Amino acid sequence: MEKKILVTRSSLPPLEEYIDEIRDIWDSHWLTNMGSKHECLIHALQQYLEVEHLHLLVNGHMALELSLQALKLTGEVITTPFTFASTTHAIVRNNLTPVFCDIRPDDFTIDTNKLENLITDKTTAIMPVHVYGNICNVEEIQRIADKYGLKVIYDAAHAFGEKYKGQSVANFGDVSCFSFHATKVFHTIEGGASCYSDRLKDFGLELYRLKNFGIRSEEVVDGVGANAKMNEFAAAMGLCNLRHIDDEISKRGKVVAHYRKRLDNVPGLRLNPIPEDVISNYAYFPVVFEEHEFGATRNEVVSALAKDNIYARKYFYPLTNDFECYRHRIYAGNTPVALHVAKRVLTLPLYADLKQADVDRICDIILRCGK
Ligand SMILES: *Cc1c(COP(=O)(O)O)cnc(C)c1O
Repeated sequence: MEKKILVTRSSLPPLEEYIDEIRDIWDSHWLTNMGSKHECLIHALQQYLEVEHLHLLVNGHMALELSLQALKLTGEVITTPFTFASTTHAIVRNNLTPVFCDIRPDDFTIDTNKLENLITDKTTAIMPVHVYGNICNVEEIQRIADKYGLKVIYDAAHAFGEKYKGQSVANFGDVSCFSFHATKVFHTIEGGASCYSDRLKDFGLELYRLKNFGIRSEEVVDGVGANAKMNEFAAAMGLCNLRHIDDEISKRGKVVAHYRKRLDNVPGLRLNPIPEDVISNYAYFPVVFEEHEFGATRNEVVSALAKDNIYARKYFYPLTNDFECYRHRIYAGNTPVALHVAKRVLTLPLYADLKQADVDRICDIILRCGK
């Protein structure tokens, strides 16, 4: 049996580098609560992401959930079902109603041609997802948001470090939320961040209240907050990983280039387009299997890979509007393009150290499944 290959493999800095980074924690005994690692990571990320305002959080989900809460939204939020559970849960856990908009067939981001029809007098925000690191149609989304006075909160969990037309992805909309989970391109083991626009008055303070029990100072508690702080060991991991991020992304780019070389122009296989004006982070490599043209279904390919100890993942299947908890709700809506893609998509193993020979082995198995 060949060695096991999973869909991803968390990056780690050299052990000595991490030990050096955490050494002064043993001097200070300051383990959490906005310590010096936390502050250093904020500054480093402000530079790397080219943003002015950034809060660190315990994970990406809390970045989404507490950002929505800090905006004090009501009513309906338009989003897409082609995403991780977290996006939809963050909306519903704020007592907001998700309204599901369909996705574009080529890059799986929210279809802005179908968005405006879903706006009602209850709509207060749009929560699009830069899914797989594919940048949404940010200009059109902003145009619609401005026209109807809606807030835009991007789920940017997949888009760390990306640029569109020279602009950091973190600067679009009102808020962009990142996940620094172990499986993401940049990670702090568990962690996340909200980057927010100058336009938002009081948002930073409100988000701070929500992540730290509403504690303003030793004797003043002026918000009903939760606890969603990032600890010093997580921040230290972030500081180390950030030193290697450019190298990490360029290695991922080479893996993706090899996949594309092998799988481009195969009848029945659909790869994401390579958009102009985007600096990619190569977060994921999704392939859509159009079974009639290709000669095998997505699930047959999954089984063939698993037989060889290779574990690709069906991200994102099922759609969130087809989850047990959301199915048959009025707002679950009808999203045929998302459904078509969810039934056929597979994200292939991708990480910086994935060997070219392994990519070849994966592609050989896939191509053997076809006709
Ligand atoms: C990973 C992820 C999240 C949640 O982030 P965590 O850090 O795991 O809480 C949210 N949205 C999307 C699209 C994700 O992939």
